[in-house]
Amino acid sequence: MDNARLEIPPPENERVNRFPPGSAERERLADELKRQYGQRLEIPLCIGGREVRTGRIGRAVCPHEHGHVLAEYHQAGEEEYRQAIVAALAAREQWARLSWSDRAAIFLRAAELVSGKYRFVLNAATMLNQSKNPHEAEIDAVAELADFLRFNVWFMQRIYADQPQAHAPGSWNRSCYRPLEGFVFAVSPFNFTSIAGNLASAPALMGNVVVWKPASASVLSNFILMEVFREAGLPDGVINFVPGPGPLAGRMALESAHLAGVHYTGSTEVFSSLWKSIGGRIRGYRSYPRLVGETGGKNFVFVHPSADLDAAAVALARGAFEYQGQKCSAVSRAYVAESCWPALWRRLEPLIGGIHRDMGDPRDFAFFNAVISQASFDQAMAAVRRARQSGCARVIAGGGGDDRIGYFVEPTVILTEDPLYATMLEELFLPVLTVHVFPDERWEETLRLCDSSTPYALTGALFASERAVIARTLEQLSHAAGNFYVNDKPTGAVVGQQPFGGARASGTNDKAGSFLNLLRWTSPQTIKENFSPPHEFRYPFMRAGD
Ligand code: NAD
Repeated sequence: MDNARLEIPPPENERVNRFPPGSAERERLADELKRQYGQRLEIPLCIGGREVRTGRIGRAVCPHEHGHVLAEYHQAGEEEYRQAIVAALAAREQWARLSWSDRAAIFLRAAELVSGKYRFVLNAATMLNQSKNPHEAEIDAVAELADFLRFNVWFMQRIYADQPQAHAPGSWNRSCYRPLEGFVFAVSPFNFTSIAGNLASAPALMGNVVVWKPASASVLSNFILMEVFREAGLPDGVINFVPGPGPLAGRMALESAHLAGVHYTGSTEVFSSLWKSIGGRIRGYRSYPRLVGETGGKNFVFVHPSADLDAAAVALARGAFEYQGQKCSAVSRAYVAESCWPALWRRLEPLIGGIHRDMGDPRDFAFFNAVISQASFDQAMAAVRRARQSGCARVIAGGGGDDRIGYFVEPTVILTEDPLYATMLEELFLPVLTVHVFPDERWEETLRLCDSSTPYALTGALFASERAVIARTLEQLSHAAGNFYVNDKPTGAVVGQQPFGGARASGTNDKAGSFLNLLRWTSPQTIKENFSPPHEFRYPFMRAGD
């Protein structure tokens, strides 16, 4: 392995297109949306560089028009997952031997393809298959993904440059950052194209080989990503793209003695079950697998009487309802001091009304689109029904839905006097915000409640202008969120600016988009070389003649 230092300058965050009416970029995107909407792609698996067709077909549809099929994708079965592991292991030695600057070049080239040639293709696929508006698609499938790829190369360089500082006279110590011994199982969620790309590419950049199980609901954009990696020069077998049933993929990967790591993002339940199975068979692996998981959340916003209420209203509207509340960082519970609630609601209600009126098809550039699936739609309707029947909660905005054409759920607000009401505790991952209004004098008590009432700790935010309140809240909630925001919405983390991840039931907090994550994909070896080894057995303290 070649760990020599190369000076790659720190990257800049990718610029973001705004798509104003009449702009050339808007027109290009509209054309690409039309093209992809009008085709029916066939998506094969990619194992060891081979396109594999199993005939077990899944359908990639538009959530906002579920009768419209964008692509038919082949699903892996036992045999294909087995083959993917074999192909990954076969590629391992050569990939690990390639110099790190060669690996860097492949992923830097991929970043250029994402932000250049494939920009509109990835945006359109993410809009159509994952039901995102142009802004949400652009900041995900293009900007964040390009940032992950470029920043990770820079972080890798910093890790490799970290070498032992001390050397005894006549000797030399160095650290060699080996990839893990085996393959990494990357399992991605539906909601971010960038996360999917990062889950597969970050371990590969560090010299690992990967079996990548994408989410069924985002196969289209994820397949295009696989094409990008190949076009960028990724050797066959380094990343193997194998959509299929999650439990089967999990069983096959976890049964292999060569499982070296899991790079996962998705629900807490699935990650916990993977961890448990791995624990149960731990003696069967060659090494202790590295387990990296970013999981669920129940993200909160606190509004103090000293808050700027215009800013708090915008943050709640954006934080709770952008991408239909399906960002891992989305706000789903708010604690508002009683004295400012009427004024805050006067500001927030019309914003939610505007979002509601701007609900529709991403092809029309509607701001607010559909939720991902029938199951998500049903879950939203069930939460609304429960709230309506409950004696301690009221639906004060939205609450309706229509799944005839697409899975449309209105932006919904539930007001509850019970801070332990179900939707103050459970992750819904939907456009449903629950608000608890509390007496101003119970500020401290409510902070403690927020800290202890859910198992999660992903994101949180505080709106306040009094410095002592800000300081005290940060102290009180220091373990309640991995990403905390003061006077800002708790969504929209930017690679290189706010490394992202939560602790407790929200994950292992290995901070995607930072060197901390990349550290998990290397197993350093320390090499001491002695240029003048001792020829004398005896130590000075020993008795003469011994
Ligand atoms: P999910 O848990 O339903 O699925 C995630 C992935 O796991 C999918 O690819 C799925 O097919 C796979 N899977 C399911 N069962 C499996 C098994 N037994 N073995 C192996 N793989 C299996 O999650 P989702 O609906 O795609 O995404 C939403 C969830 O992801 C939410 O809980 C959200 O909070 C979380 N999320 C967290 C972050 C974060 O950074 N913390 C980011 C995005 C999403």
